[in-house]
Amino acid sequence: MEFQQPLPEPWASLPEDQTLARIRAAKAALGRRVFILGHHYQMDEIIQFADARGDSFRLSQIGSQAVDAEFLVFCGVHFMAESADILAQPHQAVILPDLSAGCSMADMATFEQAEDAWAAMQDVAPGRVIPQTYMNSSAAIKAFVGKNGGSVTTSSNCRVAFESGWKQAEKILFLPDEHLGRNTAFSLGVPLDRMAVWDPRKDHGGVTKKELRDAKIVLWKGCCSVHQKFGPDDVPRVRVAMPGIQVIVHPECRWEVCQLADHVGSTDFIIRTVNAAPEGSAWAVGTEIHLTHRLAQENPGKTVISLAGIQCLCSTMFRIDPPHLLWILESLLEGRVPNRITVDADTRKWARVALDRMLALPASPVPARPTAAATVD
Ligand code: SF4
Repeated sequence: MEFQQPLPEPWASLPEDQTLARIRAAKAALGRRVFILGHHYQMDEIIQFADARGDSFRLSQIGSQAVDAEFLVFCGVHFMAESADILAQPHQAVILPDLSAGCSMADMATFEQAEDAWAAMQDVAPGRVIPQTYMNSSAAIKAFVGKNGGSVTTSSNCRVAFESGWKQAEKILFLPDEHLGRNTAFSLGVPLDRMAVWDPRKDHGGVTKKELRDAKIVLWKGCCSVHQKFGPDDVPRVRVAMPGIQVIVHPECRWEVCQLADHVGSTDFIIRTVNAAPEGSAWAVGTEIHLTHRLAQENPGKTVISLAGIQCLCSTMFRIDPPHLLWILESLLEGRVPNRITVDADTRKWARVALDRMLALPASPVPARPTAAATVD
């Protein structure tokens, strides 16, 4: 993997107004040759130049449909650019403006670690396990899942994916977000004591064979460094400070937080719910701070605040800043293609299989709202 070199001059030290003006000019000069994809968690200074904004999977789809574009500049993190490359047309190059924009969650599961967990599960339940991975995982993990009969899931369709998985197999191995897995499985009636947690840093995942045998789902010990910052104490704190406020959180938040919240759902669900809420309503939002701020700006008649008392910022996404975007666009104008993200052919093939299986799932009508657990077989 390549590492990001320090931004060269003059881009590193241009004043902000010049940087923004030059981005505008470079983008206009490139015209339809370039398409800028802006993830919801990006800063406004980047989003203003995005041709589309959305979550990682939707942006990858939109990029592949922008067939005039030779260059898809993904203002997001590494796994998102990989997904865009997997879905891209053969003539499209996917570019990540800063190679150090990784994802702490995706980095918590490697192909080798997944193979170890898979072998341990096959040992206790041969042929009776299906792997599934959250979109927020490397291409290698998506390919691992595709090769072993499983699918990718998003936070929008995780419930449907689990239901489908349990029709095919007795157990699910879910990577790499422990919390999304637990919240979703619980909402489908799986009690907490039927969930095991595989910690790749421990021998045999830190679980016994009996725990694996008893588990309906094995959750990977991984999390989002942003969403795990929201704590259960935040919910009563905002309710006392602002009576009547509604708490809406992403299912990457901890189970205890989701249990206390009024609403739990994907980024898309959060946006739709707040946008559709009546004027005068108040919302405490448990997701990345740039999205929360944008929701507040775009809903001036409502109160929209972060659920956390601290800034919950995706620091790697934050590396994609105007100087890096300008460097990319002006390099493209000069005929250079820096920071291209490419997925090798075998990985692409199997990751695509896992993504296509997700697309074949029925639409998910309900967000991942945890409810009281019931016993399941
Ligand atoms: S918000 Fe969390 S899951 Fe999303 S890119 Fe950042 S670290 Fe990864």
